[in-house]
Amino acid sequence: MNFSHKSANYLRNLRMLFAISLALLLASSSTFAQKDSDEYLFNDSHFHLTNYIQEGTDIHDFLKIMGNKAGRVALFGIPLQQQWSYRVDENRRPTYYLNSDAPLYYYSFTDAWIATAYKSLSKQDQARFDPMITGFNPTDMYAADHIRRVLKAFPGVFTGIGEFSIHKEFVSAKIAGEVASLQDQALDRLLDFATEVGLVVLIHNDVDVPFAKPGVEPAYAAQMKALFRRHPNTTFIWAHIGVGRIIRPVKDQAAIVEEIINDPKLSNVHFDISWDEVAKYIVATPESTKHGAEMVNRYPNRFLFGTDEVAPADQDKYLKVYNQYEPFWKLLTPEAGEKVRKKNYERIFDEARRKVRSWEAAHVK
Ligand SMILES: [Zn+2]
Repeated sequence: MNFSHKSANYLRNLRMLFAISLALLLASSSTFAQKDSDEYLFNDSHFHLTNYIQEGTDIHDFLKIMGNKAGRVALFGIPLQQQWSYRVDENRRPTYYLNSDAPLYYYSFTDAWIATAYKSLSKQDQARFDPMITGFNPTDMYAADHIRRVLKAFPGVFTGIGEFSIHKEFVSAKIAGEVASLQDQALDRLLDFATEVGLVVLIHNDVDVPFAKPGVEPAYAAQMKALFRRHPNTTFIWAHIGVGRIIRPVKDQAAIVEEIINDPKLSNVHFDISWDEVAKYIVATPESTKHGAEMVNRYPNRFLFGTDEVAPADQDKYLKVYNQYEPFWKLLTPEAGEKVRKKNYERIFDEARRKVRSWEAAHVK
């Protein structure tokens, strides 16, 4: 074997080695999201593993329910517990807030429960979840300290806070203690802390009161916009675009949403279209479906899909809201459809994960 022969072999081997290492490098650096995004129908920005009596689906069973339909899920329980008052309900166990006149109360242990469920998963399965802290009382100046304590007790777990509620039909009024308010400094304090850490903030706040008089300015629209303006660096997701079961989209709903979207100072605000009640309004008629789709096609970066399912027993129940949106999905441009169903979730939650992990690295021993 002469020298030129040898060096040709050497070069060929070198090229092969280079190709193999490049392939390995690409394979190992491809994140879950990049690798599997195409395989799934959606990422779910709004999901409750447990219900109003803190019971729910085992997370391992829920993984099977997600199957190859949901890629990633923002995971939380419910911060409120429906009290079973024997004096009021005797042996009739209430399981939902409408089942009883007994109060709801803030149940902080939900955060430990969610963290423990998450930690019982393999690293690979953990990557499919973004757990959220919810077990704080937003009227308490100490709420921020609860969030800090949860991050310290469970580093490496949480990506955001919420879904927590300020004004929510039938719920806010029956929580023991003070009624929550958008104008409470306790809320500002906890949002300041969430912003410092980089936590995503998923907030439920009805835009109006139930049975509002027509023609009157929606009760909480101005306060909500003021709250967003006070926290320009917070990553907000406004759950259900401010709509409720009987808080119908007010006549000016589209205008309120567009005003927020078009305000360059409010580019931190996003909207989730979760909940079958919201889907019901959007796909009510061909016209409403078209209006909804046009809005999302115009501003594809600002909306996220979520199910708002609570402890679903099987995959059919879990996919109900996604399937309900079928006529709406058909009217989205391919770009808007991808963003609402997957990409906006990945952009927002990946960034939050990165920030929260780096805050933890600096603050948790
Ligand atoms: Zn919800």
